[in-house]
Amino acid sequence: MGLLQNKVALVTGASRGIGRAIALRFAQEGANVAFTYLSSVEKGQALEAELQALGINAKGYRSDASDFKQAEELITQVLADFGRVDVLINNAGITKDGLLMRMSEEQWDTVIQVNLKSVFNLTKAAIKPMMKAKAGSIINLTSVVGLRGNAGQANYAASKAGIIGFTKSVALELGSRNIRSNAIAPGFIETEMTGELNAAATEEWTKSIPLKRGGQPEEVADACIFLASDLSRYITGQVLQVDGGLLT
Ligand code: NAP
Repeated sequence: MGLLQNKVALVTGASRGIGRAIALRFAQEGANVAFTYLSSVEKGQALEAELQALGINAKGYRSDASDFKQAEELITQVLADFGRVDVLINNAGITKDGLLMRMSEEQWDTVIQVNLKSVFNLTKAAIKPMMKAKAGSIINLTSVVGLRGNAGQANYAASKAGIIGFTKSVALELGSRNIRSNAIAPGFIETEMTGELNAAATEEWTKSIPLKRGGQPEEVADACIFLASDLSRYITGQVLQVDGGLLT
């Protein structure tokens, strides 16, 4: 029996990186997995096949998390295909870095829309079936950058700090319905997102991490398993750092 046996989980942005690792680790723990992708269509389709080969129900949907209507339609479709949503993981996210002096309005708006509004869109749609079921676990991917700020990432840091306020508010509003809402704050995880940084910046980050290495997507996924499973049934409104001690 896996830790997530027969639960239905929806993961946004699972074609690559952390989302992909979450989908695969959840399937290994017996969850049925619905997931989304946007531009990486082939990778999304390949993941669907990979998940199904693990013997669980899996389906990928091409859906833009930042679009309110598409999020509503997605939840309707997932309910039609899987019957319920036990776990929602708001993972989709982007960066559009630049110092504030040079940051355009478009850079600001896009990052807030994709990272923060998407969490509102998906959560608002998913809590309807969760309230009916009187159960649910919502996990939002924030970042240590949302806790501490980061030069060159004012837009990203604001979006991730916003996610923390949202996460805690949902925990307060829906605790009485047995719906839990927590956030995970990864530090430096080796994915395409951090792959964009130059070698010197990566080395600088690594030096300042007490565990002396970047994290792997699977290590974030394992923390998600805990928050999705009944092992964390008395935990809500929290931010769990998965950062090798980076922000201590
Ligand atoms: P990544 O490798 O760049 O992958 C991002 C994923 O999000 C992709 O699957 C992408 O799908 C999807 N996505 C982007 N915009 C989307 C949209 N509008 N609708 C649906 N899906 C969308 O990023 P990652 O490193 O795995 O990061 C995952 C999450 O963890 C993000 O929220 C990120 O901010 C957070 N995080 C990452 C780190 C890190 O060190 N990597 C640290 C802290 C927090 P397509 O390719 O199909 O468009």
